[in-house]
Amino acid sequence: MTRTSSGLARVNADPSQVFQKQSLLEQHQSVKHAVSELRDGDSGKNIVWIIFNTGWTDKNKLPKIHRILKIHNSQKILAKFEDFREAVKSKATRDIARAASGATTRRDERCIVDGNELLRFHCTTFLCNLGQHGNSALCSQVYCSACGIIRSGFSPKLDGISTFATSWRAHEAIPNDVEAEFAFMNVKRAMLVCRVVAGRVGCDPMVADKEDPGFDSLVGRSSAGMGKMDDDELLVFNPRAVLPCFVIVYSV
Ligand SMILES: [Zn+2]
Ligand SMILES: [Zn+2]
Repeated sequence: MTRTSSGLARVNADPSQVFQKQSLLEQHQSVKHAVSELRDGDSGKNIVWIIFNTGWTDKNKLPKIHRILKIHNSQKILAKFEDFREAVKSKATRDIARAASGATTRRDERCIVDGNELLRFHCTTFLCNLGQHGNSALCSQVYCSACGIIRSGFSPKLDGISTFATSWRAHEAIPNDVEAEFAFMNVKRAMLVCRVVAGRVGCDPMVADKEDPGFDSLVGRSSAGMGKMDDDELLVFNPRAVLPCFVIVYSV
């Protein structure tokens, strides 16, 4: 009896309702189970800990890590990232075929293989208790940047999304007194460890053709002076190119 009735229910189910249920479930997963804390002894935690600490030169003043969270990106966000990578790969293949000089650089090869994927850091802030005591849910506060980025990716920026080769440089990109100044909002720091499809990296923003820049990302401009480059910084123009994978909650 039960088999028959459940079978009937399946047949009669409105496909759009099934779809709606599926997408509600996905939404629930991506918002309520967005992160999980990596535990001591977890090899992943060790690796993230090491790459986070590497860039800090003053070993006596290492930042205090409160917790390391793994981000469970939704299928939708993962698909966007992989689609972007495929677009970069096929563009690189076309460009090289067109150039036909036979002189492919190492970077061109990387573009064709994996879109020139790099590991980068982006420092941001958050207001909620993400990841604390097993809290895996994203909040919906407008000014909670970390939750916003994890929920819907980075926002496009005219000057590019700033990513850094070391966590220390990423840390420096945010004012030192941000926690003190916004203490009334309970602002805390979060370092995002991101996979970035850098594609073709351009060097000089001054000569770039805006219509067909020929690059997918750009080396940062040094604060030291005009025309100077900052190799540690990579500016990314397409938000899909950046996939945050871990959150490190820390303080200095
Ligand atoms: Zn649930
Ligand atoms: Zn939040």
